[in-house]
Amino acid sequence: MKLMSQQGEGQSDRKKYEFRKVIEDLKNFEGSGTQLVTIYIPDDRQISDVVAHVTQEHSEAANIKSKQTRTNVQDALTSIKDRLRYYSTYPPDNGIVIFSGAVNAGGGQTDMVTRVLESPPQPVESFRYHCDSDFLIEPLEHMLADQGLYGLVVLDRREANVGWLKGKRIVPVKSASSLVPGKQRKGGQSAQRFARLRLEAIDNFYQEVAGMANDLFVAKRHEIDGILVGGPSPTKDEFLDGDYLHHEIADNVIGKFDVSYTDESGLRELVDSAEDALADAEVIKDKNQMNEFFEELNAGDLATYGFEQTRRNLIMGSVDRLLISEDLRKDVVTYDCQECGAEEREVLDRRKSTPTHTCTECGVDVEAGDDDREDVIDHLIEIAEQRGTETKFISSDFEKGEQLYNAFGGVAGILRYSTGV
Ligand SMILES: [Zn+2]
Repeated sequence: MKLMSQQGEGQSDRKKYEFRKVIEDLKNFEGSGTQLVTIYIPDDRQISDVVAHVTQEHSEAANIKSKQTRTNVQDALTSIKDRLRYYSTYPPDNGIVIFSGAVNAGGGQTDMVTRVLESPPQPVESFRYHCDSDFLIEPLEHMLADQGLYGLVVLDRREANVGWLKGKRIVPVKSASSLVPGKQRKGGQSAQRFARLRLEAIDNFYQEVAGMANDLFVAKRHEIDGILVGGPSPTKDEFLDGDYLHHEIADNVIGKFDVSYTDESGLRELVDSAEDALADAEVIKDKNQMNEFFEELNAGDLATYGFEQTRRNLIMGSVDRLLISEDLRKDVVTYDCQECGAEEREVLDRRKSTPTHTCTECGVDVEAGDDDREDVIDHLIEIAEQRGTETKFISSDFEKGEQLYNAFGGVAGILRYSTGV
């Protein structure tokens, strides 16, 4: 199995953005009948199997009563088969999702739309074939919703399990059971001795559980977004208060939760109970970025903001982290002045048509072609990737995140060194 590497973070942010854009697009599409086809293909599924499945669906579609729907479904399936030809034996890592169908284009017209998403940020879990009046996008939305990596520990005095929460997936890794005797001592045993042995056994068990957790989490401590601990009271409190965990990962514990099972199902219960804490943890990461930005803005010299200024810093290679508002939906047009050679840019609302630009150097009117217009985020991320700058998408669900969007044009950066730009 391939784990998300550290260099993957910026790229996966970009991928996430690209996917989100496609999803927003697809959400607006509607078919007049049950004629929009979505296929989710895991990376261990042979392409030839998928082609066979699509061929089968194609022949079954011959039974569809409405001629128009029948034609539309078969066209969609043909288009999907065409796309599948680009792949050899297996899909790329994490699989592929294909959308195809005749969507309403207004005035009784339809448009044939086909979109292929390769290597989603999380693996496609299972093969799905879906034909409906809209595209199936929920599984993709779930993949994008949260991608964090969390360590999980559930324990009571008898049993413990440790594992991971990777995005939405729970991965149990190790379990242990204890030799801690029950509360009832056997006849003839001194009460004191029994109590001491029992405490020792509990202590040993906590050490064993901490050992499992340390083995798993310490090596990943820089990638972990947090650790969740679950169990009945007072076990989880004893475990945490007793400093059993390695100090470097103890700092990552973001919460303890009441959980009644400590087998693998306890891991699921733990994640369910921690839902709010996990949502907060996502926002906290964004908050920390924005706090750092504002500190630099107010008292330091490592902040940059606004499209032009941030872009100039990006080109210089001085940006450590590029901060982009998740809500930013703008295009940038690049104008090359034929008269004086100046290159200038305008940032536009996505729905506006491309205006004629007046060159600020020589006053000549400059027109732009279709190729000169692109998504602001794509434009910036491309430069960022060339310069080794990390990109962070910032939610606008908190005050400073909202300010990034409203007051700074949705674009800012934290610099590696001061540039005076
Ligand atoms: Zn000019």
